[in-house]
Amino acid sequence: MKTPYPDYEDVMRECREIAASDPTRVSYSEIGKSEEGRPLPLLKMTDPAVPDREKSVFLLSGGTDGSEEVGRAVALGMARALLAPERRALLYRQVVLVMPVTNPDGCVRNQPDREGNAKGIPAAGAYPDDGPPLTAEARAMRALVDEWIPDAHVDFHGLAGGSMGDCEFLYPTVNSKWSIPVLMDIVRAIEEAGALAGFPQQGRPRLWTEPRHNLPGWLARNCSSVCMVLEGTENYYPIEDSVRSGVARLLRFMEFGDSTDRYFQDFPNYPCDVVSGGFMAALMPYGQTYEERRRCRRDISQMIVQGVPWFERLACDRDWTAVVHLPVDDSVRTFPEGMRFKATIDRRAVVKEVLWQDHRLEPALWRQALTPAGIVVTADVPEPPRRGANQLKIRYEVPFRRHVEPPPEK
Ligand SMILES: [Zn+2]
Repeated sequence: MKTPYPDYEDVMRECREIAASDPTRVSYSEIGKSEEGRPLPLLKMTDPAVPDREKSVFLLSGGTDGSEEVGRAVALGMARALLAPERRALLYRQVVLVMPVTNPDGCVRNQPDREGNAKGIPAAGAYPDDGPPLTAEARAMRALVDEWIPDAHVDFHGLAGGSMGDCEFLYPTVNSKWSIPVLMDIVRAIEEAGALAGFPQQGRPRLWTEPRHNLPGWLARNCSSVCMVLEGTENYYPIEDSVRSGVARLLRFMEFGDSTDRYFQDFPNYPCDVVSGGFMAALMPYGQTYEERRRCRRDISQMIVQGVPWFERLACDRDWTAVVHLPVDDSVRTFPEGMRFKATIDRRAVVKEVLWQDHRLEPALWRQALTPAGIVVTADVPEPPRRGANQLKIRYEVPFRRHVEPPPEK
């Protein structure tokens, strides 16, 4: 029986309509085929006035679990909403990739509580870390994200009939590389936007900290992308309200990639926020363009799957050395071409030199800024790390003695 939600044929027709309505900013393509040979449609939406390499990339997918229909409706609603004149800036500063149906065979079957594809494999297990994707759909999605390395990704699901009941819910996908405070800023903003539109979230967001072998989990772990699964209601609200709620929440998320001070890549700890020593040091992507930094972010993320950088301070009277250690073990296969380090040291410090391994970095490669937390030193290392131990050292002086001189002996 036909439901109020767009079925596969509706999605294909609407995608072509949306692309035809604004050929300058929307392009339609098919990124591959399902197990049963159904095309996987993609809408690439962006303003061509700015080259793609200078923009953030946001990936929105829907229709991932066959019986969850609202994601397809929200993805199409979002694509239409992005073309409104008041949203010009969004597409000026980012590339938005919309995949309204990533599981066409499951969509065509549309059996209650059946999530999987034609072979019964759900997307939730189709993206292992140690091998190729398990389904035709997942292979196509992996090729897409390998090409674009999204800065942010939302997979839009629906909870109707599931164990949670019919409600709106939010699952931010987090791993140790991402700064949880930054992620929670985005989560709060999304919740607030939903509530303001008249659709408050039901229950607290549930952080996914354990490894998830779906696409958001794979992207968060292997590329340090900002990823979430959003759930929409299917029976509780009429379809128009479900779409309004989904679009309000997604637009708020995309606004983080929109304004010049909040591009996804300009977050203070974006995005390989490898923290230790109480947020004192971070490892970040290096590169001239957004695209170069995206590739570097992926390479750093894959490099540090095993080893985690750590931070220490070595003191010797007035002379101090702050050291960021980056261990690279034998399992690492991907080396970034360069890296950016950030470390916070004493507010009163006078930095003398910065060293990578044992050679001095040219002064043009590092800079310092006084912040309320201390002096933040940012250093660009334009070469790959080596296997084994790596060290960035900051040598500095503080204008006082650490130890009180003992009284002279009588
Ligand atoms: Zn689902």
